[in-house]
Amino acid sequence: TIETAEDAPEDLEPRAPIVTVMGHVDHGKTSLLDYIRKENVIAGESGGITQHIGAYGVTLDNGQKMAFLDTPGHEAFTAMRARGAQVTDIAIIVVAADDAIMPQTKEAISHAQAAGVPIVFAINKIDKPTANPDKIKEGLANMNLLVEDWGGKIQSQDISAKTGAGVKELLEKVLLEAELLELKANPDKLANGTVVEAFLDKGRGYVSTVLVQAGTLTIGDYVLAGTCSGKIKAMQDERGKNIKEAGPSTPISILGLDGAPQAGDKFNVLQDEREAKQLAAKRSQLMREQSVRTQRH
Ligand code: GDP
Repeated sequence: TIETAEDAPEDLEPRAPIVTVMGHVDHGKTSLLDYIRKENVIAGESGGITQHIGAYGVTLDNGQKMAFLDTPGHEAFTAMRARGAQVTDIAIIVVAADDAIMPQTKEAISHAQAAGVPIVFAINKIDKPTANPDKIKEGLANMNLLVEDWGGKIQSQDISAKTGAGVKELLEKVLLEAELLELKANPDKLANGTVVEAFLDKGRGYVSTVLVQAGTLTIGDYVLAGTCSGKIKAMQDERGKNIKEAGPSTPISILGLDGAPQAGDKFNVLQDEREAKQLAAKRSQLMREQSVRTQRH
């Protein structure tokens, strides 16, 4: 993968886990992401998260960091996977305790399993009088998914995304899972990673949120992302703060690309602008040829 291909073991440094939240509609994915985002108005930093950029970073009380893909629903997850992008280290699968294991719960589970991504279950809405977390755990057991308090190995946490009960414990379990993965990347090279989302902003031009997976992204770098390229003019975090460089597992918005790459497109930094432009042009041409070919068939 990205971290091991050309890196010597001594160049690798621990990196924060990248987490995706999945689950059935209305089971509380957005509420959970909102709660984590709100509560993590980072210690010592003024101002909360001001803009939705498709991903955000949080720092826990103990200083440990994690990055969340803020694009709930596994559509984004599958779209990225379809483009060959593997950005998620751990999947939180939200199941409403007043409901049941639903079709999209099962889909989320199979997507995570197919990607080889460990799952932590968040049994949500336990503040509701009708909540029955045990029924959900039994449902999971019937799918051969034994959670810890049923004697299994899969972590789960009862939570309320509304009151925040259990959310801290949930994040601790995610970090525990992350430790087992021994996630590492080399921060000391030209950056590469994946595009999370991109759009055209009336005032700022094309804005792309990318997740740096290895290396360090710096203002002035020449980036190639899908069929787009350009020199980074500015970078901003989810608080709208200008950032000069971004290392592994950092979600960041970049300005300066000549277009909007697609979610799941890989990006990398090239030595010079000419090379970036040539490669982008070559890719556009290949894509045009491919679409002509598919139209003919
Ligand atoms: P999503 O479709 O999975 O993103 O679900 P949402 O986060 O939009 O939540 C669906 C509904 O459930 C909303 O009305 C939320 O306010 C509500 N909800 C989410 N989490 C909780 C919870 O922990 N307790 C209660 N009582 N309601 C919740």
